[in-house]
Amino acid sequence: MKLPPLEYACPASLSEAVALLASRGGDARAIAGGQSLMPMLAFRVVAPTLLVDLRKLPELREIKISADGVRLGAMVRWRDIEDDARLAAAHPLLKAAVEHVAHYQIRNRGTVGGSIAHADPAAEMPGICVTCDAEISVMGSNGARTIRADDFFVGALTTVLEHDEIITEITLPAWPAKRCWGFREFARRRGDFAMAAAALFYDQDANGRATNAHVGVIGLGDRPRRIPEVEAAINGQIVDEVLMERAAEITSANVEAQADIHASAEYRRSLAGTMLERALRDAATR
Ligand SMILES: Cc1cc2nc3c(=O)[nH]c(=O)nc-3n(C[C@H](O)[C@H](O)[C@H](O)COP(=O)(O)OP(=O)(O)OC[C@H]3O[C@@H](n4cnc5c(N)ncnc54)[C@H](O)[C@@H]3O)c2cc1C
Repeated sequence: MKLPPLEYACPASLSEAVALLASRGGDARAIAGGQSLMPMLAFRVVAPTLLVDLRKLPELREIKISADGVRLGAMVRWRDIEDDARLAAAHPLLKAAVEHVAHYQIRNRGTVGGSIAHADPAAEMPGICVTCDAEISVMGSNGARTIRADDFFVGALTTVLEHDEIITEITLPAWPAKRCWGFREFARRRGDFAMAAAALFYDQDANGRATNAHVGVIGLGDRPRRIPEVEAAINGQIVDEVLMERAAEITSANVEAQADIHASAEYRRSLAGTMLERALRDAATR
């Protein structure tokens, strides 16, 4: 289907972009890589009267790595993350998860900000943000604010963003040199959205016991979620085979899952447990 008629603007400053979005009272949309928005326009899922292109805002394209963590500008593409060798040490979990995002052409255009704003429950980046306690910086006509990832996602394709707010940056807290982590995903084909995925990390105390466990699942319910029951089971323990199997059982018993044409809710819960067990096995060997 062809796109509906609409106006297009390509502002050269963030303030201008915000003003343009605000000028239409909810009838304007930012466009980043267009990989989700263009199909939605073609299928008339959304019908804005104005598109505000963010591509001429170079300040949104930077990847900054410091002692405080990794800061990704909203217009950073999947390809940029893939190509940035520094991220292998600075945030290996992010790098591993992004390898599962979409296909070559989409990875050349799709952005982290677009993914977060789109809030697909099966997308990898929102899941990494929730698992890692990311902070999302936004700018709107009422000024800048920072939102915890856990508070940002409200439901499928729904966030707390106001219509005139633009995501500017995503901050992932610093990643220590020694950390156990794992990411496992099951998709129908390589590059498809996750049917179920598990992202996790933990640190170890002097006795090799796990501390600071963060465990998230992707693709099951209406948004990515941490699983506190599994985190509690891991913390203070040596991560061995028995614990891995138990963690998988706790996951399948505690996650909320939705059925769709690809899988029943029960299958997805079971798959989540399997992904989690494998991710935990990877973590224990890293
Ligand atoms: C065939 C196919 C397969 C895919 N597979 C996967 C996959 O496996 N995993 C995955 O995670 N994704 C997948 N995607 C989606 C892809 O990763 C998109 O890049 C992503 O969802 C949106 O990014 P975008 O930059 O293209 O955003 P756009 O399509 O430009 O915008 C998406 C939404 O975000 C809003 N938006 C964009 N940028 C901002 C901003 N800075 N501030 C506020 N709002 C903003 C737009 O207004 C729009 O509502 C797939 C897409 C396709 C077409």
